Parts: sequence; C-alpha cells; structure tokens
Amino acid sequence: MKKNWIEKNLTAFGIQPNLIDYSKEQTTFEWEKVAEQFDGLPCGGFNIAHEAIDRHANGSLGAKTALLWLGENGERKSFTFIDMKKQTAKFANVLASLGFGKGDRIFTLSTRLPELYISALGILKNRSVLCPLFSQFGPEPILQRLVRGDAKALITTQALFDKKVRPILEQLPQLQTVFLIDAIDDENHQIRSLKRLMDNASDIYEILPTDLEDMSILHFTSGTTGMPKGVVHVHKAMYNHWSSGRYVLDLHPEDIYWCTADPGWVTGTSYGIITPWLHGVTNVVDESEFDALRWYRILQNEKVSVWYTAPTAIRRLMRIDCEPTKEYDLSHLRLIQSVGEPLNPEAVVWGVEKLNMPIHDNWWQTETGAMMIANYLSQTIRPGSMGRPLPGIEAGIVHISEDGTATEITEAGKEGELALKPGWPSMFRAYLHNDEKYAKSFVGGWYLSGDLAYKDEDGYYWFVGRSDDIIKTSGHMVGPFEVESALMEHPSVAEAGVIGKPDELIGQLVKAFVSLKMGYEPTEELRRELIGFGRKRLGAAVAPKEIEFTQNLPKTRSGKIMRRLLKAREMGLPEGDISTLED
Ligand code: ATP
Ligand code: MG
Repeated sequence: MKKNWIEKNLTAFGIQPNLIDYSKEQTTFEWEKVAEQFDGLPCGGFNIAHEAIDRHANGSLGAKTALLWLGENGERKSFTFIDMKKQTAKFANVLASLGFGKGDRIFTLSTRLPELYISALGILKNRSVLCPLFSQFGPEPILQRLVRGDAKALITTQALFDKKVRPILEQLPQLQTVFLIDAIDDENHQIRSLKRLMDNASDIYEILPTDLEDMSILHFTSGTTGMPKGVVHVHKAMYNHWSSGRYVLDLHPEDIYWCTADPGWVTGTSYGIITPWLHGVTNVVDESEFDALRWYRILQNEKVSVWYTAPTAIRRLMRIDCEPTKEYDLSHLRLIQSVGEPLNPEAVVWGVEKLNMPIHDNWWQTETGAMMIANYLSQTIRPGSMGRPLPGIEAGIVHISEDGTATEITEAGKEGELALKPGWPSMFRAYLHNDEKYAKSFVGGWYLSGDLAYKDEDGYYWFVGRSDDIIKTSGHMVGPFEVESALMEHPSVAEAGVIGKPDELIGQLVKAFVSLKMGYEPTEELRRELIGFGRKRLGAAVAPKEIEFTQNLPKTRSGKIMRRLLKAREMGLPEGDISTLED
C-alpha cells in the first residue's frame, strides 16, 4: 500500500504552504481566530460581500484585479476590487430601489457572465438571498425551483428568458421582476433591462447591519440520489470558506486562481465566488464549457497557480492524447484540487505523470457548505483517500443501529456512515420546506452525510459509496467506487459506473457499465478480458459479473455519475427526477 503514497518534499515548495504541521493546526485551531480575519460592517455585523469585496476595495488591494473574465470567443475583461465594489453597489441599489430587501429570494439563471458574479454579490450586499440556478436547466426544473424557493426576482439573459422563462411566466405570480442582463429596453414594468437600471444607479451603497445568522444562499443539491433538496446557508459560512481557502486551496496574495465549477452548484459559489475574494486573490472565470485544449491554454496563458476542478473533468482530460507539460507552459501551476465525486487513484497518479503534480481530492456536500475533508499541499497523499478533516472539523465514522442510535466506530478500516460533529459555521441551517428531513439528518450528536466511508489508522478517510449505491452481494457489502477504480486501471477504460442488479441467488449482482478510451472497440473479447481483469484485482466476490459497454454514462449536469439511473434503466423502473440529468 505504502509504496503508492505520494510523499511531499517540504523543501521544494516555492511558496511556503499555509499548512505545514497538520496535527498542530488541528489542535490549536479556534474559530475565534478565524473571526479576527474579518473586518465587520461599519454599522454592525458581518456581510459576505463586504468581506469579499468592499474591504479590499477600501484597503490596499483596490486596484488589484479581482475578476478576470474570459469570454467564449476570446474576449477578456478584468475588474479590480474597486470596480467590483462599485458594480455590486449599483446592483444592490437597483434591488433596493425596487423594494427588494432582507430575506427576499433573488434567483440567477445565467451563463458565466461578469454580471452573474456582480449580481450574486449585489444580492448579498442587499441582504437578500442568492438562489443560483444552472443555466442549462430546462423550463420545468426552473419552474419547480422558482416556485419552491419563493422567487421574488430573477436575473437572466434575453435568450434564456425567451427560451426557458417566458413559457412558464404565467405560473409564477409571485415573481415580481425579471432583470435581463443584455436587454436594451424594459419590456414592461416586470421585465426590465438590467443594463439601463445599472447605468442609472449610484455606485455607493452602504450595507445595512447583517447578522452572521442571516440567510445568504439557497442552493439546490445535484439530484444524484433523487429529488434535489433546497439547502439554506447563512453569512457565517464565510468562516469555513476563509479557513478552507487558507488550508486546502493554500491561497496566497500572488495566486491566480481558477475554479471550473458553475455557480449553479455550491462549488461555484463557495469556491468560484466567495473564497478567492475573501483572500483578495485574482479569480479567473471562463464563460466556455469544457474543452480540454482550451483549458490547458487558460492554465498557461493566465498563469493559473491554484486550480480547483472535478473528477469528471479530469477523467475527460485523461481520455485525450496529450502531453500537457510538454505542449503547454504550466510552470505557474502549483496546486490542483478536486471535488464532487470520488477521485479514482488512477486520476491522482495521472496528475503526477502528466501534470507533474498529484490531484488533491477533497470531500464535502451542498449541506456542509464548504470543504470538510481534504488532502493538503504539504501532506502525503494516499491515492484514493479523500484525506483528513480540516482543522476545526470533527469527523467520524458511525454505525446506526436498527433502533436509530449512532455509535462511533473507532476501529480503523471498518466501514460506516461518514458523519460530522454539528456546529461548524457553514453547516446548512435547513432543508427548504422540509424540517423533518433536516431533523433526521442529526442523530446522537452527529450530522449524517449519507455517504459510507472508513478511516485508516492514521486518520485518512476513504470513500466507499453513497449509502443508496452500496451493493449487497452474497453477503458482502460492495462499494461501487472500489470496483470502478479497479476497472479504470485497465488501459482501455475511460469511465465506469457500477450498480447492484437484483439477483435471486446472491441478492445483488455487481454490474459495470464501461465507456472506453479513444481507439478501443467494444468487442466481446475485451468484455471478457475486463471481467478477468476485475477478478484478478478484486477477487471473485467483488468483481463485476456483468459488463456492458456504453458510450456515455448518465451524469448530472454537475458531472456526477447517476448510478440510480443506470439501475432504474437496467430494471425497467421509472427514472424519477431527472431535472439535473446532462443532455
Ligand atoms: P443529491 O443530494 O441531490 O442526491 P448530491 O449529493 O450529488 O445530490 P452535492 O451536495 O452536490 O449533491 O454532492 C455531495 C456528494 O457528492 C457527497 O455526499 C458525495 O457523495 C459526493 N462527493 C463529493 N466530493 C466527493 C469526494 N471527494 N469523494 C467522494 N464523493 C464525493
Ligand atoms: Mg447529497
């Protein structure tokens, strides 16, 4: 096992990492010290937008680039912290002038345009609630979320409005205003040109007293396991954003940071908007969708030093035939972090071979609001492990008994539910309209994540699977991740999704859906070879008994393999909520 570990050479870092001694940070950490990082509002309280933007604009970073925006067609715009302060003030004034205020739910539905980032922070300045939607949703999922979220206003583009919102507008009587980012004129008193309103708004806005417990963001989950849940966050979440920016993203003032996630998902707000700016770091935003060579060019041309992306993107980069470090100058890149799905050990090692550095995996959820478990720049990586809890976070593996009590499993290697001690600042404060579900997430002094994992003797956490995805076969419990990762070690396999297929004899049979790398044909011979390969790696009890080739696995729009859909299709059952299914 140990031979695969990736040790770090502490003398080789150009910039001293923020975290060097993990145990010391763990034991000396105090949230009060994080609180001291913040400025506070002149009139009282703490507001994310003030700490992320105004504080820097008023201080020594005013002229520094905050947002570096790359348009789809090669356009490039940059906004300093002062520009961002003024623009977000204008938007807050627009909202206030129309009577929107504290607690009002303001939705965004936009591609990654500068206005999306400006309005997100303007909403927070105005103490309204930012509710981001993913721009590729169709009318039905948009309607559902606007209704469930009690939307008062929506910011979108003319094209998205005409295609997706106009058809459902009549069903949204509570929606008072639609702001169109790129419309020149108002259509009527309800559908307004954002540009016109912004042109006429003052660029001075005094944020009113904001309580750390005031609601800041309403996010909908990815819908990987079922109907997406509305998750409520508060301004205090920035404590975790700041500390994870320091420990995990290792942000330093001179960094150029790029998070590839869309603000329609929690990674895109927590780490694509809030965290880099809390640290006063230049944040790159690319309007475009995934494009391997474009991405390498961005890393090169913008001199990106810290990069936060996802396993699905990394697996796509692994598919293409390219020697990135030979073809591009990636010499500024010093840290790659990944979240969203289990990161196969194969992908971590690919990073070492092709990018000259491992990919660092970290684990969290919409509900946790920020990273909870991570691999750190200065610390040894055990490929396949999500890493260790962040300073300030207490994690554990618990067993839930039949009668619903939770007992911590301290024994190394023993699987159970991944749980967290409640009370970290970015912990969600509610599931929208579902108090019962919220209450049920907390058992015996733990927040239960719904993921299964185990801890090794040194406190590294290893993901097993979502509890819904666990396969029970011949009396064994099999996690799909283990099987998928083993298959990915075969040179032909680009991606795999593994499910349990009901079987009279053994309960469930392990079945793998496999998509192949370029240049490989889905032949019977290869299928048999993969079955044999799986057996050798995993043993007969765990290895897939059936393999089916497929060109693409069904995924959420945030890039997660939807095993529940593979299973429903396999069994001919209804597909359930597919609002987040990728086209
Ligand atoms: P839903 O709750 O609607 O089914 P979801 O759980 O996919 O959707 P998110 O909150 O976006 O919605 O994703 C969090 C989940 O993603 C985690 O609970 C975990 O299952 C998975 N995940 C995230 N990061 C990792 C990681 N590093 N390793 C393994 N799994 C991860
Ligand atoms: Mg979830």
